[in-house]
Amino acid sequence: MAALIDGTALAERMTQETAARVAQLSSQHGIVPGLAVILVGEDPASRIYVDRKVRQAGKAGVRSFEHRLPADTDQEMLLGLIAACNADDAVHGILVQLPLPPQIDSARVLDAIDPRKDVDGFHPVNVGRLSTGTGGLVPCTPLGCMRLLETVIEDFRGLKAVVIGKSNIVGKPVALLLLDRECTVTITHIRTRALPEIVRTADILVAAAGSPGLVQPDWVKPGAVVIDVGINRVRGIDGKARIVGDVVREGMGHAAAITPVPGGVGPMTIACLLANTVRAAERHGV
Ligand code: NAD
Repeated sequence: MAALIDGTALAERMTQETAARVAQLSSQHGIVPGLAVILVGEDPASRIYVDRKVRQAGKAGVRSFEHRLPADTDQEMLLGLIAACNADDAVHGILVQLPLPPQIDSARVLDAIDPRKDVDGFHPVNVGRLSTGTGGLVPCTPLGCMRLLETVIEDFRGLKAVVIGKSNIVGKPVALLLLDRECTVTITHIRTRALPEIVRTADILVAAAGSPGLVQPDWVKPGAVVIDVGINRVRGIDGKARIVGDVVREGMGHAAAITPVPGGVGPMTIACLLANTVRAAERHGV
């Protein structure tokens, strides 16, 4: 039977550690880490994510500054807000919830964030730092994947890792983190040929395609560790909506360990966001 890697429990432990670091920063340096959370528009999923981030920030003692802007916000106005957050010493981290409405150029907005406050790790400076292994802030979901893997893998060196998905948010950065740990990494995507055969070679599989039930049990090598990043809303035969991952979990008993959806990578993403915010405050606020 594959072990379940409990992301909810690990995220809870990480948030407690973050809270302890917040208390130390506050007592030793009089600094309360601050996170600016910017949401443009009314997208229901984005609102849920932002609410969760703000709630978890409160639990860890991180102060959040919420900016909820209308869907017709123009780019200059948003850039002005980011400039104000960049200049505000009470703000150590800036998070712009994606996706942004079509009239806004997301790349320009992300580029405008001070890289030292870029707690999502999407700024080109942090992307460059990740690819050269020279520090910087690392994207939260990939960081969460690594923390989950570390609970079941002691030595990553030489392991074969396969990543499904090549997005800037998940696939590419998680591949770089695995490479940094000296795994042999293959990145696959929608155009990859013979995907099942490639996945069968993996000691570590990270599935981040956004395709419900893509990975079948017979694609997974016995003893592999499987991280399911996918969050897919599907309707069951009873007509009820539910969330499923990219991996079919039934019949996966031959894997060594697997993350559930929900309760795997999802909670870790927020825990890593808060850890990044405190890291930014420790580095540049003190
Ligand atoms: P994306 O759409 O930007 O990228 C998806 C990638 O998967 C692309 O590179 C595409 O080529 C590849 N892909 C799609 N279908 C495929 C298939 N059938 N075979 C092989 N490759 C395929 O998505 P993203 O932002 O990287 O997110 C991926 C998934 O992870 C989504 O379900 C998303 O909701 C989820 N996600 C979860 C968290 C979390 O906190 N748990 C965070 C971010 C994203």
